[in-house]
Amino acid sequence: MSLKVAVEFSKVPMESIALCMQCRECIDRCPHDLPIPDILMEHQDLYERQKAEIPGKQCRE
Ligand code: SF4
Repeated sequence: MSLKVAVEFSKVPMESIALCMQCRECIDRCPHDLPIPDILMEHQDLYERQKAEIPGKQCRE
């Protein structure tokens, strides 16, 4: 899968991370005590870095 296709494929879930209010309620519900908001932010950062690497910014906004 090309970088461009990967970014387009993950666009909706990755850009919905911006809706996270950092309330941290999901942590109490997770049976594994995962730091879900932190994981989301790390993946959003990775997504934005990958998106910025697409030559000519050909990814649809
Ligand atoms: S992902 Fe977790 S911290 Fe973010 S809004 Fe949802 S419940 Fe709150």
